[in-house]
Amino acid sequence: MADSHQMFIDGEWVNSSDGGTRDIISPATGAVIASVQEGTADDANRAIAAAKRAFYGEWYDMTPKDRQLGLLRLADRIEEHADELVKIEAENVGKPYEVTMAEEIPPIVDNLRFFAGAARGLEGRSAGEYMAGFTSFVRREPIGVAGLIAPWNYPLMMAVWKIGPALATGNTVVLKPSELTPLTALKMAELSADLFPPGVFNVVTGDGIPVGDAIVRSPDVGIVSLTGDVDTGKIINTNSSDTLKRVHLELGGKAPVVVFEDADLASVVEWVSGAGYFNAGQDCTAACRVLVADKVYDKVLGDLVPAVEGIKVGGPFEDDVAVGSVISKEQQERVIGFVDRAKEAGAEVLTGGEVIDRDGFYYKPTVVANPKQEAEIIQKEVFGPVVTVQRFSDEDQALAWANGVDYGLASSVWTRDVGRAMRMARKMEYGCVWVNTHIPLTPEMPHGGYKQSGHGKDMSVYSLEDYTNIKHVMVSLD
Ligand code: NAD
Repeated sequence: MADSHQMFIDGEWVNSSDGGTRDIISPATGAVIASVQEGTADDANRAIAAAKRAFYGEWYDMTPKDRQLGLLRLADRIEEHADELVKIEAENVGKPYEVTMAEEIPPIVDNLRFFAGAARGLEGRSAGEYMAGFTSFVRREPIGVAGLIAPWNYPLMMAVWKIGPALATGNTVVLKPSELTPLTALKMAELSADLFPPGVFNVVTGDGIPVGDAIVRSPDVGIVSLTGDVDTGKIINTNSSDTLKRVHLELGGKAPVVVFEDADLASVVEWVSGAGYFNAGQDCTAACRVLVADKVYDKVLGDLVPAVEGIKVGGPFEDDVAVGSVISKEQQERVIGFVDRAKEAGAEVLTGGEVIDRDGFYYKPTVVANPKQEAEIIQKEVFGPVVTVQRFSDEDQALAWANGVDYGLASSVWTRDVGRAMRMARKMEYGCVWVNTHIPLTPEMPHGGYKQSGHGKDMSVYSLEDYTNIKHVMVSLD
């Protein structure tokens, strides 16, 4: 029988208020792997109340040094339990075990350690007499209860990107993992149960509506942080307006990879065949939209297609697998629909373009050539193992196409011309521009969108600032 899991509220393992449960499916096989509580609005509100009490409890008086210890210990425990966590994550998301262990666990652990330390060094303006007879200074304070709503593509990593800065700065949290992938968040709650006072870290499982929605609408939640789809971000922006809470949105992407004729083409092919398909392309920064200069277009495609055909797709525990399944049957159908419609609109599928015939939800790594700029497959996030390639004639057209979507999360420019790289980096409407690489992130640097990719930053000191309030204190010198 599949393992059954409770939720973690106020330091206790509890059932859903109405006794509902949900089966969790592995997309790698289509089989049920676990059962979790199907949370309700009452459960969310119970967790929010616990988090509010905990905020004003012993947590309130803890120093950054004390809070840091909890996060550092959690990082250590994640490292110690990496094998178990990666097995759970690989099965629940359909990711390759080896890749997840090598590429996700080290940055997850490092992120927690970064946040733990960085929150001790936050700065404000110096205190001073800006009005005669008064001294003013700035306090940076936690907001209160942080409602953290996570997606399914990197369940543990996205949870860490949120709980790290929220807890390090003294907030308490209610984490709602994706209804599809709650298992590593629950495991993290177990690993941290003795590290924080009860109510500081709560995990409520369940659907966007009612659980996420209750968090978004609650007057007792001071900040809601979503990583998810653009449409979900818009709904959350609207539904949080009654309480005017802070909204932190890390939404979708459609990353352009702009390749000029003087680029190192072997490097382009190596990075695109990696970063375009990593996590089965279910990555908001995936190198999914390649724009290539006319002169080298044929060469790039000629090398990219065999490289993509060489990507090994398979189950989480098979050897040397680079790419796993997509997350669900719905997602598989979504990818099929996008590629079929691109073909109907005149684009050419050079490799892939079909499902893999085995249990679970797999799709072949796919290259779609020559779609029109206004085509759906250029304008909308596919979130699957699909890379488009367009041919541009000059720098102006490359820039116009690169910026010609509603998204603005991540991008890359490939050229050996420093002036051109600098011009492009300045004009690209993206929260991140990589030059001659694509996808590396580091916790010291901010990650977040322009335009409809959202607002607010993950990682870095900017993320810590997002989870705090600024208070002016003015003291009469009389
Ligand atoms: P999603 O928007 O469907 O769901 C995200 C979370 O929001 C889930 O926990 C879901 O239950 C919850 N939710 C849904 N409706 C809600 C509502 N009305 N109120 C409150 N909560 C609600 O996204 P997903 O399909 O889980 O994840 C994929 C998306 O996430 C992609 O668009 C991807 O680009 C994006 N993403 C962005 C980043 C980034 O850093 N910008 C990182 C990873 C993923």
